[in-house]
Amino acid sequence: MALPTTMRALLLEAPGQPLRPVTRPVPEPGPGQVLIRVRACGVCRTDLHIVDGELPPVRLPLVPGHEIVGTVVACGREAHRFAPSDRVGVPWLGFTCGTCRFCRRGQENLCNAAGFTGYSLDGGYAEFTVADERYCFLLPAGYEDATVAPLLCAGLIGYRSYRLAGADVERLGIYGFGAAAHIITQIAVHQGQRVYAFTRPGDDAAQAFARQLGAVWAGGSTERPPELLDAALIFAPVGALVPAALAALEKGGTVVCGGIHMSDVPSFPYRLLWEERVVRSVANLTRQDGEELLRIAPEVPVATRVDVFPLTEANEALARLRRGHVLGAAVLVP
Ligand SMILES: [Zn+2]
Ligand SMILES: [Zn+2]
Repeated sequence: MALPTTMRALLLEAPGQPLRPVTRPVPEPGPGQVLIRVRACGVCRTDLHIVDGELPPVRLPLVPGHEIVGTVVACGREAHRFAPSDRVGVPWLGFTCGTCRFCRRGQENLCNAAGFTGYSLDGGYAEFTVADERYCFLLPAGYEDATVAPLLCAGLIGYRSYRLAGADVERLGIYGFGAAAHIITQIAVHQGQRVYAFTRPGDDAAQAFARQLGAVWAGGSTERPPELLDAALIFAPVGALVPAALAALEKGGTVVCGGIHMSDVPSFPYRLLWEERVVRSVANLTRQDGEELLRIAPEVPVATRVDVFPLTEANEALARLRRGHVLGAAVLVP
């Protein structure tokens, strides 16, 4: 079947402006790349940080989107990993150099010359996209296109945050109960942890959702949990949550900040950090994180809750996410 020569896409031309629907040529896969017909693309909070200009622009105009699910329709020269009609996922990490000190020691998430899908590389808010085949994942068969999309960033970054919270966690706090939290709660509960969910104060819907997914307690982010936490994951972009989470932490516990952008962290007394408490961030993902999560998710099994929007309503989906009106994850479908 002949491919079209043009496609619809949504373009960020300047931060702070709505995405503009355009018609542009279908990209050609370069060496090592596959051409993908996009079936679904998740809407991540990072997209919002890029569109709103909280992250500095690195490529304009830009097609955002880095939770891409699609079908391979053509392979460039030297691209042999996938065959046409394979269903693949494209995550945030779109390229690494393989030679810098970080790549050489297994920290490709920190690569000095990394390429990021939907940020420094065009992403999935379009009918087609190209991707370096080495960073694509084969997707588990049991998921529909829209429901597997949130695993590709919310799930993946969430999983890396969860993993870096350390072993021996029995009591896990999760601050910001959006796409990442609703996935990680299911994994943590499956692995026998007690999950404490913190939402925007008064967000009864998110708290009920957290309990439904197995959280033993859900409350507002200004509340104290009924017992101390061994670790806390912060997915909300709110720096004030760092001292709040530290104050809820057991000795030796870890706070992991999972987002790429956060408002300033207010100063706090040293006693909150004392007794070997740790605050750390998580940046990007490695391909190993992706392989692990995509193996674990069907075992749990993780069920994602998605709000599906047509691609043309990307601005509305972003607006709803900005207002905190998405329960689970928003996904665009061309
Ligand atoms: Zn590198
Ligand atoms: Zn993301």
